[in-house]
Amino acid sequence: MRTGPKSPFIDLRSDTVTQPTEAMRAAMMAAPLGDDVFGGDPSVNALQEKIAGLLGFEAALFVPTGTQSNLCAILAHCGRGDEYIVGQQQHCYRWEGGGAAVLGSVQPQPIEHAQDGSLPLARIAAEIKPDDAHFARTRLLALENTLGGKRLPFDYLQAATQLAADKGLQRHLDGARLFNAATAQAEALGTDVYAEARRIAQCFDSVSVCFSKGLGAPVGSALCGSRDFIARAHRIRKMAGGGMRQAGLLAAAASHALDHHVRRLREDHALARQLAEGLAGIPGLSVEAPQSNIVFVDLQGDAVDRGAQLLAHLQSQGILATGLYRLRFVTHLDVDAAGVARAVAAIRAFFAG
Ligand SMILES: *Cc1c(COP(=O)(O)O)cnc(C)c1O
Repeated sequence: MRTGPKSPFIDLRSDTVTQPTEAMRAAMMAAPLGDDVFGGDPSVNALQEKIAGLLGFEAALFVPTGTQSNLCAILAHCGRGDEYIVGQQQHCYRWEGGGAAVLGSVQPQPIEHAQDGSLPLARIAAEIKPDDAHFARTRLLALENTLGGKRLPFDYLQAATQLAADKGLQRHLDGARLFNAATAQAEALGTDVYAEARRIAQCFDSVSVCFSKGLGAPVGSALCGSRDFIARAHRIRKMAGGGMRQAGLLAAAASHALDHHVRRLREDHALARQLAEGLAGIPGLSVEAPQSNIVFVDLQGDAVDRGAQLLAHLQSQGILATGLYRLRFVTHLDVDAAGVARAVAAIRAFFAG
């Protein structure tokens, strides 16, 4: 099915479903191009400098996907027989086909999240192995922000990354939705979203950012870090098949998104709150108050087995959502207040019927 702004569907499955805007398409068409495997694509180079500068790093690498970005990061920080500490629900443990273990012989050490999405400091400390032949070498702490739509508190990020540094670990942030985290943080503190993105990023040795989620670009992520780190990641990207040629066509879309789609993320967050508020009080539905652009809904009591039925009902009404593990509704560039209102009405009708 075709989705996007001209489609009849209200697509709340993910913020990855957006179509490039007319202005973004124009920026892509106007982009100067070269062969990025030779380092010769001016639009890729400009994007890498822009995102590294924005987040306060020496260098950045444009990669096709967030999955490849995390893979490059973990393999650039860790060698065979090393391990990384990671949360059970984090993308770079649970949702990437075990890539770090399969392709890098790097062992994950997953730990349970606290209710707010954080990894308890005592649990992190307890999993750092002593230097002993029995153990993998603990090299890296990987966090994710936002995680399942939750913003990790900034004082927690500081404490966790300080603990890791004190123990000699590297720190990686899967910031696929870093700008959503920064938006929520800027709203909470009354500060600037770009400044908050940089403050969060600067707690880490490396940060991965997705352009293809809420930022609305069609393809692409960036990995940021020191010049040496990015040189190692560059080699791994090539090995993973991620060396792209006239990639400036895509990098131009990402650059456009960084310039024009960051400040508007607060609109997505407001729509997520509108959706959650619209669903409040429906018997059989428990709605988690959203902190960013993702609303999770759990079915309860007699409704607990009606998830597939609800999704089918919504689809028949032209509304798309997913229920891979919990019902999930995601707001983005191609959803507006009228669409959210229609989704609320359709869900209410399902439970009234
Ligand atoms: C989407 C996502 C990724 C991976 O991005 P792809 O481009 O789909 O590979 C990584 N981490 C998080 C938190 C994500 O949401």
